[in-house]
Amino acid sequence: MKGTTPENSHWIVQLNYRNRTGSFALLFAAIGVHFAGLAHGWLAWALLALQFLLYPHLMYLRARRSEAPLATELNSLLCDSVLFGAWIGWLGFPLWLSYTMLMGVTINLMVFRGPRGLFQSLFALACGIAFSALLQPLHLTLYSNWISNLLCITGLSLYLMMVGNVAFTRNQRIREARDQLHESQETLQQVNRALQQQLQENTELQNQLRELADRDPLTGTYNRRYFDVTIARELSYCRRHGTSLALILIDIDHFKSVNDTYGHQAGDQLLISLADLLKRNSRGSDIICRFGGEEFLIALPDTDCATAVARAEEYARGFSDAGVRWQGQQISATLSAGVASFPEQAEDADKLLRCADIALYQAKKSGRNRVVAYSGEMRLQIPATD
Ligand code: GH3
Ligand code: MG
Ligand code: MG
Repeated sequence: MKGTTPENSHWIVQLNYRNRTGSFALLFAAIGVHFAGLAHGWLAWALLALQFLLYPHLMYLRARRSEAPLATELNSLLCDSVLFGAWIGWLGFPLWLSYTMLMGVTINLMVFRGPRGLFQSLFALACGIAFSALLQPLHLTLYSNWISNLLCITGLSLYLMMVGNVAFTRNQRIREARDQLHESQETLQQVNRALQQQLQENTELQNQLRELADRDPLTGTYNRRYFDVTIARELSYCRRHGTSLALILIDIDHFKSVNDTYGHQAGDQLLISLADLLKRNSRGSDIICRFGGEEFLIALPDTDCATAVARAEEYARGFSDAGVRWQGQQISATLSAGVASFPEQAEDADKLLRCADIALYQAKKSGRNRVVAYSGEMRLQIPATD
């Protein structure tokens, strides 16, 4: 059952138990002293002991046994008010005793229920006074003796100090909790910043990896895998928008003999210088890729065959003019190129590439160092695909 041990009963129940026991004991003494002066009978003393010595323990037991200790405890505060009202009426409104009881119950309920608590406790007190009026007619005995008054002042002062101290302790805990929350928020923000930085680094790394996967490490141009993926996309764009696309397939002439004469590294240098020349003389939309050993393929979007041939001739001139310096020697080389374009000569990527390859073959066959555009007569040489 819930609320059966002091450990798990609500902290307000515990706090009120201590306060009620102490303040009621003081009221017992204050009313007792008041009684002594008025010579009351044994029944009055028995009621006094029951109310102020036994009652606090009964209310505590009731709250602890309750399924909802806090609600029960707040109802007990209303009960206190009714009973205090009855005592005030019965005693004839003694000033200090009445004031002490009034303040005790109203502050208690106000702490938990605000202004609503004030009205509730005043109403309950009035009910108590009305109840006492049923038992005996209301009368006024305003003054009690000085010891009783002193006990009331002491009790009330102690009670107010206790309320102040509880408020202080609670405020301190709230401040500590707020500081902790602030610290946790800062830690969380730091972790968040670190995570974001890591995420950014990961994204950059991923981009670098993707870039590496798409590029030829020697020349920095795109590789064949990238070309295969991109050309399909480019051609479908051309089909949708009715634009053209030309392919230039380049092969360095007698490249093997460059390797044989100057060494493999010199050959590499020549490949790099050709790649640089292609990059320098191309538009941003052109796709330059190293297609094989010393073969480069350039896709020129929105370009017809004649324009592509002119561009290939520019490449060829630039390449044979520049050559490359290698260990104090000038290496000169030429290139051959085959050109084909979409949609003039082929409708798909495979056929377009085959047309460019046939044109390149023609260029090689007719003496190298030249650019050849694919023409209809060469069509017979394309093997059927389906
Ligand atoms: P052709 O005019 O008929 O094209 O003659 P070629 O010598 O250029 O043709 P071939 O295909 O016989 O030779 C290509 C050479 O390119 C053979 C190969 O060793 C060389 N090669 C391929 N990749 C590289 C590379 O990355 N670096 C270097 N230095 N040489 C390469
Ligand atoms: Mg070759
Ligand atoms: Mg070659």
